[in-house]
Amino acid sequence: MNRLNNKVAVITGGNSCIGLATAKAFIDEGAKVVIFGRDQVTLDTAVAALGANAIAVKGDVTSDADLDRLYATTEQRFGKVDVIFANAGIAEFAPLEQVTEDHYNKVFDINVKGTLQTVQRAYGVLKDHASIILTTSVSNQKGMAGMAVYAASKAAVRSFARTFSAELVGRGIRVNALSPGPVATPIFARAGLSDEQIKGLEAEMAIQVPLKRFGETREIADAVVFLASNESSYVVGTEVVDGGMTSL
Ligand code: NAD
Repeated sequence: MNRLNNKVAVITGGNSCIGLATAKAFIDEGAKVVIFGRDQVTLDTAVAALGANAIAVKGDVTSDADLDRLYATTEQRFGKVDVIFANAGIAEFAPLEQVTEDHYNKVFDINVKGTLQTVQRAYGVLKDHASIILTTSVSNQKGMAGMAVYAASKAAVRSFARTFSAELVGRGIRVNALSPGPVATPIFARAGLSDEQIKGLEAEMAIQVPLKRFGETREIADAVVFLASNESSYVVGTEVVDGGMTSL
């Protein structure tokens, strides 16, 4: 299939799980992809697997300078940008009484400021009629114990999809939110939860999904391909892919 033929796509957090599965799907559809992440080893491994139509830029979404370097490198190598998948994020949880200023600052810095800057710093290299996809989470619409700060950060990202859409629609640029229900990735392990806590959380979440299972990264990537491509030309400011969790 060639639904993204010669499109230039940037994926933050493209070195693992949802981001990497999407990078593969984009390349299968004919795109040239720049993955951005903090870890050189996983970036190198990902590029080796993705092939000649992918490059990696190491950096942090909380750094303006790193993002400027990302877009300068992208333009130099592939040209102006058709698709941004602003997907980098962390899932760190704490019950209300244990929320600290450090926890709040870390989650909001990466998930909220990082997403804002990922789009803002791209302004000059974005083509008219580009597609921007922001990864939020089903938690932005559900009250889940222990997720006050994470869910609020993802609600801010959901809100960005609406406001960025209003600001960019005049250039034909569409912005949509990708709002996964639970997907089997190591994101919870990265949050420092024990194996037992992860199992408990996963069991609790799977019950809440009407489809009664976690999503696969491929299923999420398929939705991102749709949002990135012209097939979604009448889709703007919306939110997708939660296994029915917020509707049923
Ligand atoms: P993941 O941990 O593999 O992916 C997150 C990626 O973001 C990683 O590559 C990580 O290195 C990168 N990242 C984190 N902080 C960064 C920073 N400061 N600068 C640059 N890169 C940074 O897990 P995933 O499940 O693939 O998560 C991808 C996105 O999906 C996240 O935004 C997450 O919140 C969201 N999400 C995941 C689930 C799920 O169940 N897995 C559900 C809803 C939303």
